[in-house]
Formats: sequence, C-alpha cells, structure tokens
Amino acid sequence: MPSLSSILTHTGRTALAGVIGWPIAHSQSPKVHGYWLALYGIDGAYLPLAVSPDRLGEAIAGLPALGFRGANVTIPYKEAVLPFLDQITDVARQIGAVNTLIVGEDERITGTNTDAQGFLDNLRHQAPEWTTGCPAAVVGAGGAARAVCAALMNAGVPEILVFNRTVEKAEDLADSLQIHHTSNIHPLPLTEKSWKSHAKDLGLMVNATALGMCGHSSLSLDLDVLGPKTVVADIVYTPLKTPLLDAAARRGLKTVDGLGMLLHQARAGFAQWFGVMPEVTPDLRDFILANRDV
Ligand code: NAP
Repeated sequence: MPSLSSILTHTGRTALAGVIGWPIAHSQSPKVHGYWLALYGIDGAYLPLAVSPDRLGEAIAGLPALGFRGANVTIPYKEAVLPFLDQITDVARQIGAVNTLIVGEDERITGTNTDAQGFLDNLRHQAPEWTTGCPAAVVGAGGAARAVCAALMNAGVPEILVFNRTVEKAEDLADSLQIHHTSNIHPLPLTEKSWKSHAKDLGLMVNATALGMCGHSSLSLDLDVLGPKTVVADIVYTPLKTPLLDAAARRGLKTVDGLGMLLHQARAGFAQWFGVMPEVTPDLRDFILANRDV
C-alpha cells in the first residue's frame, strides 16, 4: 500500500513551486524541498519542471497563471531567464545570474540569487573558525565562481585571487564584480607556477570549477603552499569528498564540502514560497546522500 499522506495534504490551496532546467532529472532540489514540506507538514508541492529552450519565456510567463509562488532556475537558464523577469535584486544584478524566482501578489516576477548567501552560510556553518581578514583564492570563473566571489566580497574579504584556465574570463569577472567595491580581485592563470607564486597567506581556498566532479579530472594544485589555518572548500558535491578535499584533509587542513551550499541556498526560496524558514540539519544531509542518483 503506497503512502497516501502527500495526496491527503494537497487540499486545492496547495502552494506550488518547482525547479526549471533542461534537462532536470539531475536536480536534487525536489528532494530537498520535498523533505522540508513533509517535515513541516506544509500543504505544498515542489516539482521538477523540464522546460525546453524555445519555451523558456512562455514557461516563466505561465507561473502566475498556474498559481505558482515561484521557482528555482538551474542549468542552463540562470542567465537566459533575465529578459523574462519584471525585476531583479541587487545581488542577482551583481552576480549577473538568477537562481530563484518569486511571484508577487501583483503577479510580478522577481529574480534573485541565493547561491552567494548559500555558499557563505555553509562556509560559516562547516568552518566557524574561518574569518574574513585574510586573502582568499577562488579557482574558476564561471557562474558559480561569480557567486562565491560576490559572497566573499560582500562579507569583507580584502583580497581575492581568481585562478582560471581561461584567464580572460577571470579578468571579465574581476572587472564586472569590482565596480563600486573595495575588495581587490586579481585574475590569474590556472597554472602550477602562478599558483605557487601567488597562493600565500590564504585564509581560504575554494574550488568553483567542475574539476573533481564524478567523470571529470581532478584539480591538482600543490597544497603545500597553504598555511596550517587555510580552510579548503569545494562546491562540487558529487563525490562529497572530492580529491581536493581528500588531499587537504591528509595535510590536516579544515575542509568544507559542497553539499551544504546546495542545502543552504535553498532556504530563502522555501521561506518565500512556503512561509517557513527551514533548517539545514544532519538528517537532511543524510536523506539527500542516501537518495541521490549518483
Ligand atoms: P560554468 O559556468 O560552466 O564554469 C565552469 C568553470 O570550470 C570555468 O571556470 C571553467 O574554466 C572551469 N573548468 C571546466 N573544465 C575545466 C578543466 N578541464 N580544467 C580547468 N578548468 C575547467 O559552471 P558553474 O555553473 O560555474 O559550475 C561549476 C561547478 O560548480 C559545477 O561542478 C557545479 O555543479 C558546481 N556548483 C555547485 C553548487 C552548489 O550548490 N554546491 C552551485 C552551483 C554550481 P574555463 O573558463 O577555462 O572554461
């Protein structure tokens, strides 16, 4: 006999949200939000929404008509969605990408970005000893790296070294994020030589590339240049313990995995749509790890 509890909690006044992407099967967000909906006993549903590229505008415009309170936006639409929104928040403008949509009572759609706050909240949660006083190194210059750099800048980190394979992308990131801000962002090539000569006195190192993810090669930088108090964070979470985190742990450094960023970034959207600020707990982490597909 299947559980009927979720059917019985859907009353017709059910609060609706979902995640828009293409493809969408890889997304862990329905499990995260589904866990919280069940935990807090909310009459709500959060659905995976596979939207093909030629129908993105129609799908966004249809959210208020269908009574959706909002949605998350994932790969490949975090930037593509911008022209279809009524307004975006300052942080979304700073990052240049949106991952959360909120449908207002007036049916206007606001786009925001919770990745930066999610990264920071997870960092503070997993490494409470980390402080903003020392320089940080971010490896990568894609969308996730922009969110990480924005989070560190807004938290007051004085200097950020951005190492990227395509150094021009790191330069673009530095140019656009640095406007109106006091942090110094230094774009650098992702080479062993450049790493060894610049990565000194770091309080934090973050991998924000896809390197280390299942099916990808790993990020192989010499961690011996890092001091004993450097925190090493990875935003990749499949596997949870990436080769980078493994090497850092063997050196005795504090490590921060990427699953917490995914969980923490989801909180603000859930609160907007369903009216409860949910908690990131060890039970939630265990649930996601036990039920993920890879
Ligand atoms: P993206 O915009 O496509 O950027 C990819 C980045 O990885 C670029 O800097 C790229 O360098 C670099 N890269 C890719 N392959 C490389 C290689 N073989 N060697 C060196 N550098 C390489 O992707 P994204 O959206 O920023 O996502 C990056 C990673 O973060 C993904 O694994 C994603 O799953 C993860 N992520 C995690 C969370 C979370 O909540 N934990 C949130 C968002 C993203 P080039 O510029 O040289 O191409």
